[in-house]
Formats: sequence, C-alpha cells, structure tokens
Amino acid sequence: MRVYNFSAGPGMLPEEVLRRVQKKLVEYEDSGMSVMEMSHRSKPYEKINDETEALMRELMNVPNDYDILFVQGGATNQFSAVPLNIGTVNKKADYVVTGNFSKNAYKEGANLIDAVVAASSEDKNYTYIPELSPDMFRRDADYVHICYNNTIFGTRYLSAPDTAGIPLVADMSSMILGEVVDVSKYALIYAGAQKNVGPAGVTIVIVRHDLTERAEKKCPVMLRYDNQVKNKSLYNTPPCFSTYVIMEVLRYLKERGGVAAMQKINEKKAQKLYDYIDSSDYYKNPVAKKFRSLMNVPFVSPTKELDDLFVKQAAENGLVSIKGHRLVGGMRASIYNAMPPEGIDALIAFMEKFKKANRA
Ligand SMILES: *Cc1c(COP(=O)(O)O)cnc(C)c1O
Repeated sequence: MRVYNFSAGPGMLPEEVLRRVQKKLVEYEDSGMSVMEMSHRSKPYEKINDETEALMRELMNVPNDYDILFVQGGATNQFSAVPLNIGTVNKKADYVVTGNFSKNAYKEGANLIDAVVAASSEDKNYTYIPELSPDMFRRDADYVHICYNNTIFGTRYLSAPDTAGIPLVADMSSMILGEVVDVSKYALIYAGAQKNVGPAGVTIVIVRHDLTERAEKKCPVMLRYDNQVKNKSLYNTPPCFSTYVIMEVLRYLKERGGVAAMQKINEKKAQKLYDYIDSSDYYKNPVAKKFRSLMNVPFVSPTKELDDLFVKQAAENGLVSIKGHRLVGGMRASIYNAMPPEGIDALIAFMEKFKKANRA
C-alpha cells in the first residue's frame, strides 16, 4: 500500500508518473532496452535529454539567453560551483543566510572567495526572511546568493530581492516548479531534483549564458558551466534514469496545467494546513505568517514527548517521514507538488484525532 510520504527529500513522486515509468521500465519505446541500460550517446537518450530541457524551458518560461544544465553532486555541489564559475571578477559575494543550507552555501563561498553575510535571520532561529534593500550589498559583489525556500525552517521569499543589478543567485531546491518564478530576475537558479522534481542524482542549473564564460581557471572540469553548456550536460555519463524520470514528471506537470496550476493547488494545500494549525489551540507553527513556506510546514504539539508519539502514530496511520529536522525538532510536513490534497486532509484528520486522544 502506498503511504502519504511527507519526507523533505527525496520527496514523493506522483503515482501516475511511477506507473508510466514502470510500463516502460524493461523496454523503452522501441529501443529494446531499459533507459538504465542505455548509452548516454544513443539516439533515444539524446531525445530524452533534449525533451527534458525543452520541457523545463517551457514550464519555467526560461528566456533564450539562459542555459539549462543537468549536473551531478546535488545542490551542495553548487555551493562550490557558483563561486568558482561566477565569483571570479572581483572574487566577492554577498550571502543572505536564512537557514542551514544558505549558511552552508555561505561557508563554502567564504572558503573560496571573499564572501560575507549581508543579512541573516539567525537571531530568531530563522523564522522569518530579513528585509533586504540594494544598499545592504557591496556594489562590487560578483553576486548575491539567497535560498528561496528554506526546507528545514519552513520559510520562503515572496519575490526576488532587489539587488540593483548585482547578479542574483537562488537555491530553489525545495520549491522549483512549485510556484511561478520570473527567471529573468535571476542570474542563476539551481535546485537538487529530489525535493520537488524527480529522483536524486540530478541538479538543475538555469544560468544566464554570459555568466558561464567567466569560470576560474582552476575550476574543476565537472563544475565548469561552460563545459556543461558545450556538451549539453553530456560531458561524462549523466544519471540517465533520473533524468528520464524527470522528463516524465515534467510531461505530467504540463498535462496538468503547468506551474501556475500547481501553485494554485499548493497554495490551497498549504493554507488548509496552516489554518488548521493556527485554529487548533494545540499545534504551533513558529514562522512569521507572511513568510510561511508553501512546501515545508514545521509544527509542534504541546510537548516533546507528544511530538515523538505523534511521529510514531502518524507512521502507523500511513503518514510517514513527518519527523522534523534535528535542528528544529517537532514535526515537518513536506507537501511538494506530488502530495495530493487528500494527503493534507488525511494529515489534518489524524492531527485532530491525536489532539483529542492526547490533551496535554
Ligand atoms: C536539500 C537541500 C539542499 C541540499 O541538497 P543536496 O542535493 O542534497 O546537495 C540544498 N539547499 C536546499 C534549499 C535544500 O532543500
């Protein structure tokens, strides 16, 4: 029996997509083989690679002067690739730290170039997004880095901050394709696929083409954007099967109305859950209302002991991987694109039942 999987990542995939993949698992179209066995230089795989890129471009409305790359090493690898590829003019970058991942991105940046924290929400345990204005950034910074949705703490930006022309880099790992983004406001967007797109193994990089041409001389070849651009992300063996599953997810998203349609559903799902938490007089979400994530909803019950019991009993009821990150504790419901509205209803019904059975 399939469960409702609230894991923050790897996250749930649409069941319909898994069934489609299953159908073509042993023989892909008329190739006589599985995508898992296929040369990345073969015609059928080239088609998969091209269609995945084209669908990504279409669904995110990516302008023509941007490249779309499928690389490896996770979003974490981009913490290094970004400074080595684009932090190369003045070797300076400004980071906004709004959680653990952006802090790690900053640390790696500082390891490689002159990186500073331009703003942070650490003072209130990352429960909000700091107000940003162009004068907070160094005018000669090569880029400003933000993390758009903070997977662990459950906050999100409402729009791209104004950097007055400094290239803006965004880690969108946990919300890419979950809400509409104006790509032209960003110099570079990256995202590990395993949260909201597909299986682990692929990292999506959307980068304005001119920025791919200024890599550090000693930048390792696998990290170089120009190298991946030139080779259409096929410089070496890519995770072919993961890319293929992503293609099936993108086809499915397109059939269902694309990102704007997903956003509407995601807003409804999240609102329902937050409304229940706020009205419950039992569960609490610590995040400033304005900045609440559409994708990751942390919450606590009245005590730590009850939190542990909640996680255990939720799993027994088919609501799994809902334990909060160790930095936050409590629970976290990750409700990515693939989580159906029925999953939210099932969660709320369980929360209500648990509350009645376990009054503090
Ligand atoms: C999960 C996550 C990462 C780390 O991703 P990996 O692909 O495991 O390296 C980085 N940033 C954000 C926002 C994430 O949610």
